[in-house]
Order: sequence, then C-alpha cells, then structure tokens
Amino acid sequence: MTLWQAYHTPQTVHDALALLQQYGDQARIVAGGTDLILDMQQGNQPPLQALVDVTRIAGFDQIRQEDGWIVIGAAVTHAQIERSALVRRHSAALAESCSVVGGPQVRNVATLGGNVAHALPAADGTIGLLALEAQAQVCTLAADGRVECAWQPLLSLFAGPGSNTLAHNQMLAAFRFPVQRPHQASAFDRIMRPQGVALPILGVAAKLTLDAAGERAIEAAIAIGPAGPIPFRAGEAEAALLAAQRCDDAAIEAAVAAAQAQAQLRTSKHRASQEYRHEMVAVLLRRVLRRAAAGAREGG
Ligand SMILES: Cc1cc2nc3c(=O)[nH]c(=O)nc-3n(C[C@H](O)[C@H](O)[C@H](O)COP(=O)(O)OP(=O)(O)OC[C@H]3O[C@@H](n4cnc5c(N)ncnc54)[C@H](O)[C@@H]3O)c2cc1C
Repeated sequence: MTLWQAYHTPQTVHDALALLQQYGDQARIVAGGTDLILDMQQGNQPPLQALVDVTRIAGFDQIRQEDGWIVIGAAVTHAQIERSALVRRHSAALAESCSVVGGPQVRNVATLGGNVAHALPAADGTIGLLALEAQAQVCTLAADGRVECAWQPLLSLFAGPGSNTLAHNQMLAAFRFPVQRPHQASAFDRIMRPQGVALPILGVAAKLTLDAAGERAIEAAIAIGPAGPIPFRAGEAEAALLAAQRCDDAAIEAAVAAAQAQAQLRTSKHRASQEYRHEMVAVLLRRVLRRAAAGAREGG
C-alpha cells in the first residue's frame, strides 16, 4: 500500500506551514521519520496525501549560542547533539540523553523536534530538555498569511501520551535554554531493556545550581519519565533540595522520597512493573543528583 502520495521538502517555515494548510488533516510533518514512518508502516497512522519534510528549512539543523541562550534547531539530530562541544559544555543532561537514543543509525536521522513533538512521557531528549527548563519556539501561520513565532515553556507542548498541543497551522522551529552559569551542572541517566522496545524503563535528568561555597542548592530542576501522562517535573523533590541547608546525602534522600511520592508510576506490559520503577526512581535520581552536584562544585 502507498503510505503517502506526495513528499514535500520546503525551504522555509512559511512554505512548510502553507503546505500543511493546503492539505489539512491529509498532511503531516516528518523529520527523521523514525517515529512517524514506523507508525504508518505498522498501521497506527493511516496513509496520507502528503508528508512535509522540515529538515531542509534554513537554520533547523543548527546549534548556536545567542544572547545568553543555547539554541537548537528542531531538525537537529541526536547525533549532532551528541557531538556538539557547545551542548556538552552547557547541558550535559541533554548531550547524555540524546547520546543513548536508539543506535547510531537512528541517532543520525532522528531529531530533537520529532522526539518532543511525538510527546511520549519517557522520550529521552525531552527529559533532558525539561531538566534544562527549556523553551520551544512555536511558529504559527496566521490568517493573513504571515508567520508568527513565539517561545513557550516546553511543558506547555504536552497534552497526553503521544499527543501534543500544536494546532495544524503550527510547527516547532527550535528549542533554547540558558547558558550554564558558574556552580551549575546537569546530568541524565536511564534504565533501558537491551533490545525490543524504543523507550526506556525510566529516565531521570537534573540540573543543580549551588551557592558560591558549593554547599547549598539555590536552584534545582528534575525531570522524570515516564512518571505520568506527560513528561514530569518533580517539583516536590526540587523543593526538598532547596529547603536543605546543604546539598548532601540527606538532602538527596529527602528529594528521592519526595520524587517517589509524587511520581505517577505505572506498570507497562513490555517494559517494567510499577514497583520496579519506584525503586529505580531512587537509584537514578541519586546518581544524577550526585553527578550534577559534583559538577556544580567543580565550577560547572
Ligand atoms: C529502533 C528505534 C529506537 C529508538 N530508541 C529511542 C530511544 O532510545 N529513546 C527515545 O526517546 N526515542 C527512541 N526512538 C524514537 C525516535 O527515534 C525518537 O523519538 C526521535 O527523536 C523521533 O524523531 P524523528 O525526527 O524521527 O521524528 P519523526 O518520526 O519525523 O516525527 C515524529 C512526530 O513529530 C512530528 N514532528 C517532527 N518534527 C516536527 C516539528 N518540527 N514540528 C512539529 N511536529 C514535528 C511529526 O509530525 C511526528 O508526529 C527510537 C526509534 C526507533 C525506530
């Protein structure tokens, strides 16, 4: 069966959004295709009249530093992120999360935009980005034909498992997060079955900022997935770290207990039981918090 009739490669955001408008619900955006094309081949997504490939749009494949932000185009691949010295220096959590997606073949084509837009609560790149308190640039084709782009919090993109909040006249253009400050560092870790499924049993990312003495956490961001219907920010665990006088083992254990209490963990048939995930929240969160704290003490 033919899965699509036309494959478009627009060079601008305007042209991509105009194509989406022209075809209505008979078109979908494609980037690396590692989620969408498989879904189509497996019959989870019906055949379409058109695919709109966004990987040729100018700037979509670029990583840059700009006005205090690291900006990553929506069509940047996981392999690009893995190799980027800029990303590694400012956001170890993202470099580490993207470097474990699939295998090299997948990472060479799969994009950060596709990972986020697919909206799965355990998507690795998404969990890395969330701990960096990233924003997403959403471009909209207005009724008068103009394209308007605005930054919004990453979390505002998620409606439920596999469902994002983007309308049919919208697309993701880029992501950004602040450059890493002194006494700040981030880390990511996950547990994955060796083969057979494309998503981890559990992934955890954290970013910590310590005071100048390297003792007390003054900012904390923790992301865990899957721990609910959308990618999860562990606010109670962050609050436990910030309430402690020192970012030591006791503070980390308080954060672990808070995360275990707040996370909505469930049993999934092919991946893990709820009880196992509960234990793994503790294992992974301890690891990433210790690594982030050590990195922040070294200066960030
Ligand atoms: C063998 C295998 C292993 C995998 N392993 C992992 C893993 O370990 N961890 C993990 O997180 N994922 C994994 N995945 C899933 C997948 O590779 C990632 O989610 C990837 O980042 C998707 O990116 P893509 O560019 O291929 O997306 P596509 O398949 O091209 O698109 C995915 C969705 O995003 C939409 N989309 C894409 N770009 C945009 C945009 N700019 N604006 C709006 N919507 C957009 C598409 O319309 C589609 O709905 C695996 C997949 C395979 C096949």
